[in-house]
Amino acid sequence: MGDRVAGSMDGMTDAAGAAAIDRRVVVVGAGQAGLSAAHHLQRQGLRAGTDFEVLDANPTPGGAWSHRWDALTFDLVNGVHDLPGSSLPPADPQEPARDVITRYYGDYEDEMGLHVSRPWRVASIEAFDGPAAWGDSQCFDLTAHGPSGVRRYRAGAVISGTGTWDRPYVPHYPGRFAGRQLHTRDFTAPEDFTGQRVLVVGGGISAVQFVMLLDAAGAEPIWSTRRPPRWRDEPFDAAWGRTVEESVAARTRAGLRPLSVVATTGLPSGPRYRAAVASGLLQSRGPIDRLLTAGVRFVDGSSEPLDAIIWATGFRASLGHLRPLRIREPGGGVMMADDDVSVIKAPGLFLVGYGRSASTLGATRAGRRAARAAIAATRAATEDAVSATG
Ligand SMILES: Cc1cc2nc3c(=O)[nH]c(=O)nc-3n(C[C@H](O)[C@H](O)[C@H](O)COP(=O)(O)OP(=O)(O)OC[C@H]3O[C@@H](n4cnc5c(N)ncnc54)[C@H](O)[C@@H]3O)c2cc1C
Repeated sequence: MGDRVAGSMDGMTDAAGAAAIDRRVVVVGAGQAGLSAAHHLQRQGLRAGTDFEVLDANPTPGGAWSHRWDALTFDLVNGVHDLPGSSLPPADPQEPARDVITRYYGDYEDEMGLHVSRPWRVASIEAFDGPAAWGDSQCFDLTAHGPSGVRRYRAGAVISGTGTWDRPYVPHYPGRFAGRQLHTRDFTAPEDFTGQRVLVVGGGISAVQFVMLLDAAGAEPIWSTRRPPRWRDEPFDAAWGRTVEESVAARTRAGLRPLSVVATTGLPSGPRYRAAVASGLLQSRGPIDRLLTAGVRFVDGSSEPLDAIIWATGFRASLGHLRPLRIREPGGGVMMADDDVSVIKAPGLFLVGYGRSASTLGATRAGRRAARAAIAATRAATEDAVSATG
């Protein structure tokens, strides 16, 4: 792969003495967003593993999909958009979506020759004011942890597509429940709960699917949502998709935290779900008032004994590695430019799969915009370098 090491080019080493690997662009994360960005960098003439590097924390391809549970079969997902320059091959509807997507991303990485480095988790990214191989303007120092220790990278631009899977969100309620509690990300199989009374908390599609799966597996699910479920009968078509994306973009351009997907989209209605609503299975008991040692009390004053609680309460953007760059606004959001990938407070840093691009379709499109912007942001530096050596 021919790692180019800054120390070997200009004698620079970082404070810890380890030579930094120099890349024009580093892509953090190899989910839909990071792979799309990598593909477009390559299409614009940058070489994988030389001009740009993709670092991914997972041991296998697949992004967050590689962690999803067996019962999330391919027919249950809303639809996964093609990666750029390829088509998702037809798949068995009963196959776990995890296996379908992991295979698809893995084949894509191989066919495109993206040379993803894994498992390498970027722990922190700091601003660095040249000189560096990519010019004297602001660069980034990245510290990554992996199987052979610590690696340091120095990059002219960073495209961060780290998703949300690593930041499960669980709301706080008073009281303490002594039984089993887990978040969506720790769910493995509905059969784990057969014969148990299980509270499923959350108004999103994952919660709805858990209620249905638990019921089919002989558990007794009880559903709690903060607000009445928002079923949507209208088609999830392109025009409506654009409206949703625009409303999310309006928030992130103002530096506000993006709303959860379900708060923006509502729940897809359909014959299966309508029947479950009519039968009473998919009837929310409303918001939680407090947790009890062996159950829960709802705001309406009723209570239920429980064996387990599944918190299907969503995720937050996984941005901890960017903390040194101080890009968060007081409410936790990141102020985005009108292209929805450039971070206002950190020129040269691009977020993909964040805000309006937090879907496979949005992530694919954002990857293209970010790749072009990253190349533009580092072009002046490469031209300077060429004229200096020429
Ligand atoms: C249960 C569920 C079902 C969904 N179903 C659909 C659907 O049907 N259709 C749809 O369009 N969207 C769906 N989504 C949303 C969808 O998962 C995302 O929009 C899209 O796949 C996310 O892609 P991504 O590249 O942004 O993130 P991810 O797929 O999460 O990829 C991020 C990658 O970054 C890596 N990473 C994270 N932190 C670091 C770090 N510090 N250093 C290095 N690497 C790091 C991770 O290991 C991971 O490989 C679903 C989400 C959930 C939770």
